Amino acid sequence: MKLFDLHCDTAGECLRQGITLRDGAQHINLCKGKCLDTWAQCFAVWIPDELRGADALAYFLRVAENFRRELDANAGIIRQCKTFPEMEAALTQGKCAAILTLEGASPLAVPGGLDQLDTLGVKLVTLTWNDENEFGFGCQSGSENGLKPAGKALLRALAARGIIVDVSHLNRAGFYDALESEAAVAASHSDCERVLLDTCRESEDRFFSCRRSLNDDQIRALIDRGGLIGLNFCRSFLGDPGDDGMEAVLRHAAHILDLGGERTLAIGSDFDGCDIHPALAGVDRMPDLRAFLAAHGFDAPLLERIFFENAMNFFKKVLQNEKTML
Ligand SMILES: [Zn+2]
Repeated sequence: MKLFDLHCDTAGECLRQGITLRDGAQHINLCKGKCLDTWAQCFAVWIPDELRGADALAYFLRVAENFRRELDANAGIIRQCKTFPEMEAALTQGKCAAILTLEGASPLAVPGGLDQLDTLGVKLVTLTWNDENEFGFGCQSGSENGLKPAGKALLRALAARGIIVDVSHLNRAGFYDALESEAAVAASHSDCERVLLDTCRESEDRFFSCRRSLNDDQIRALIDRGGLIGLNFCRSFLGDPGDDGMEAVLRHAAHILDLGGERTLAIGSDFDGCDIHPALAGVDRMPDLRAFLAAHGFDAPLLERIFFENAMNFFKKVLQNEKTML
């Protein structure tokens, strides 16, 4: 099968745990990926909220350097792609097309930081993590303010370079600021607030998960704008009422489809970044998920779009720089 996954934290885990990309015991490794015929994978460098400015940039560079060594050690099966032709070539050669992304934009607050990360091939930037940073306010910051002036300037700079703006983790006001920009906008790993409200008991966990998820207005706005929404497999964001993994993915996917998201829905696993139900916990579980959705009425063209084509088409438009206002 084909998979295009918009978000994982595997690069950071390789450094933190000292494990290899080839066969380390994580959700994503290259041995597990052998079950995929075609595989494009965004590898995020997650910036913890305690790190700001120069410390955040230094941390990014440490993770990226370690990840570079992992890629070099596995050059026969994975290649970092900085352009769309490089993605096409990697996939044609049967290699995993790796795309470097940044989760939490603090490194870009350092003068020259954006140049540096652009050169290293960062193609998507999640503006905040859960808290406030130099650019805006995350979904757990408690603020209802929109992006800071530096955040709005960053949107313009990212749009000019053809780097995708990722609104996962952002608070609602920041989300709408991003949508008003010229940039290409995606929610790389976010689920549906409505599904949580309809299916989960009220609790602190649900409250957090709802703030981290997209409400129906946000989902419709992303659909209208030609954005992307990557389904997140995190247990608490799926909100399994019976802890039912694949059923929960089905509920969230069906909801986005009901709102008209057939060309918007994608996968943003959050592998190696959170607690995931065993039925979904690994890139090697994706063929089973695809089969499960097929058994529940998703036809083959729709499955192709969700698991691969929607994200591939989006990256094609952005990376080829045809038009950044999607
Ligand atoms: Zn995240």
